[in-house]
Amino acid sequence: MECLFCKIINREIPADIVYEDDHVLAFNDISPTAPTHQLIIPKKHIATLNDIEEGELALIGRLQFTAAQLARQQGFADDGYRVVMNCNEKGGQTVYHIHMHLLGGRAFTWPAG
Ligand code: 5GP
Ligand code: ZN
Repeated sequence: MECLFCKIINREIPADIVYEDDHVLAFNDISPTAPTHQLIIPKKHIATLNDIEEGELALIGRLQFTAAQLARQQGFADDGYRVVMNCNEKGGQTVYHIHMHLLGGRAFTWPAG
């Protein structure tokens, strides 16, 4: 498996892991764009948002639930934060294993660039 994030899950590449359970892993982004920038990924390899199957809906909910838990633990849940999932080239996806960006610790503008 050549997938970068699968290698992080399998501990073949190091990462600064902030949360793990049987289904989900979260770690600090290597190139942060906010004071907190973490990536929340399913342990199951799913390449893009377009590849999610109906049996995986609970897993996707778990990504969002984990983001909220991490936001609470790090103290910016009430102030607010941003979650982002990029899909394919025009969406800005560069790693083809779905991941939720959790961005916190500053204010974000809208619309996105
Ligand atoms: P995308 O552009 O696909 O939505 O997000 C991919 C994210 O993965 C980027 O924010 C990038 O900084 C991060 N990233 C790429 N390679 C690595 C790595 O080896 N380790 C970690 N921790 N993050 C990575
Ligand atoms: Zn993968």
